[in-house]
Amino acid sequence: MRINDNFEKLPESYLFSTVAAKLRKFREENPGVDVIRMDIGDVTLPIPASAISAMHRAVDDMAQKSSFHGYGPEQGYDFLRDAVAANDYVARGIDIKADEIFISDGAKSDLGNLGDIYSEDCVVAVADPGYPVYVDSNVIDGRGGELVDRRWSRFVYLDCNEANGFKPVPPAEHADVIFLCSPANPTGVSFTREELAAWVEYARANKAVIIYDSAYCAYITDPAVPHSIYEIPGAREVAIEVRSFSKTAGFTGLRCGYTVVPSSLCGTDAEGNEVPLRKLWLRRQTTKFNGASYIIQRGAEALYTEEGKREVRENVDYYLENARTIRETMSKAGFTVFGGENSPYIWVKSPNGEGSWELFGKCLSEAHISCTPGVGFGDAGEGYIRLTGFNTRENTKEAMRRILDFFKK
Ligand SMILES: *Cc1c(COP(=O)(O)O)cnc(C)c1O
Repeated sequence: MRINDNFEKLPESYLFSTVAAKLRKFREENPGVDVIRMDIGDVTLPIPASAISAMHRAVDDMAQKSSFHGYGPEQGYDFLRDAVAANDYVARGIDIKADEIFISDGAKSDLGNLGDIYSEDCVVAVADPGYPVYVDSNVIDGRGGELVDRRWSRFVYLDCNEANGFKPVPPAEHADVIFLCSPANPTGVSFTREELAAWVEYARANKAVIIYDSAYCAYITDPAVPHSIYEIPGAREVAIEVRSFSKTAGFTGLRCGYTVVPSSLCGTDAEGNEVPLRKLWLRRQTTKFNGASYIIQRGAEALYTEEGKREVRENVDYYLENARTIRETMSKAGFTVFGGENSPYIWVKSPNGEGSWELFGKCLSEAHISCTPGVGFGDAGEGYIRLTGFNTRENTKEAMRRILDFFKK
C-alpha cells in the first residue's frame, strides 16, 4: 500500500514534548523546587454536578430494556439539538434551528473532518499564531503545497502582531476557506462586531466559507464581543460555527461538541451549481460517524438547565478571575500583554526582545513557573509566551508573586 505522502511532509510537533522534557530536566537538577504549571491547556475543575447526575441517570437508562439506547442519530439526539438551538442561539436573538446543529465528539474532530466537504484545490487561510489543527489537518488533506521556510506554499497566512492587536484582518489575496478563532487560542484576543463584520464581508465578496471556532465563547463577558458569528448580518450564507463543551463545562475527557451548518450556506460544484453544505455535512457524518454517546449527550443537555447554567458560569468565572490576576500582574511587572479578558489565555511579550524559548527558560529557572513558548503556535508567535488561567487560585497567586519578585526591579 502506498501511504498518504502528506504525512511525511508534516514536520513533527515538538512543542509540548519539548516543554515536558525541559521541565523534567529542571526538576531532576533542582529537586525540591516546586514548579507552578502556568502552561496548562486543559481545564482542571470537575464536571458540574447537574451533568454528573444526568449522566448517572443515563447509565441507568442503559440497564433497562425499556430505556436502553443503541445507535443514536448520527447528527445528535433532538433533546440536545433543541437545547443548543434554544439556549445558544434563539435566546440571543440568533436565527439558527435545531436541524442546522450537528452534535459531535468534540470540536477538534469537526475542525479536521470538515475538510471532507471542500475541494482539495481550496486555498486555506489561517492565522499565525494559531491553533495547530487548522494547518495540520489541511496539510494531511493535501492543501498545503510545499513547506518553504517553515510556511506552506498554498496557504494564505494571516499574520498577527502587536500592530493589529493579534487579530487577523482580511487579506488582499483570495482565499476559499478561512479559519477564525475568537476568543482565540493561543493569544486570548477576540473580535469586536465590526472586526468580524469585515470578515463576513470578505467571505461574501470572495464566495468563501469561514470556519468559526468559538470553543471559548463561554468566556466572553464584554458586550462588544459577539458570542456567535451569526450575530453578524449575512453570516448565515458564509459561515460554519464550531463549538465545544470542553472548555465551557470541563468535557475535555467526556468528548462533546457541535457544529452549525446553516441551511442557507452553499458551495459550488464543478459546473458552478450551488450546493447546500448542510446536505454534504449530513452525508459525511452519517457515513463516517455514528454519533456521540447517549450518556454524554444527556450530560451536555443538563448544562442548559438553570442549575447547569449557574455551575458552568461559576467554573468559567473561576478561570477568568485567574486570567485577570495574571493579566494585571504581568502588566504591573512591565510586560506587554494581550488577551486574558474574555479568555483563559494571556499572551505575553518578551520585554527585551528575547525569543520565546529564552523567556520560557528565564521563567522556569528564575521564577520557577512554566509557560508555553509562543513560537510553537507559528513563526509570528516568536518572542511571546502563553500563560493560562487553568491552575488553582492559590497556585496562580503564588506564581504571580514570584513574577513580581523576579521581574519587577
Ligand atoms: C481546546 C480547543 C478545541 C478542541 O475542543 P474539543 O471539543 O475538546 O475537541 C478546539 N479549538 C480550540 C481553539 C481549542 O483551544
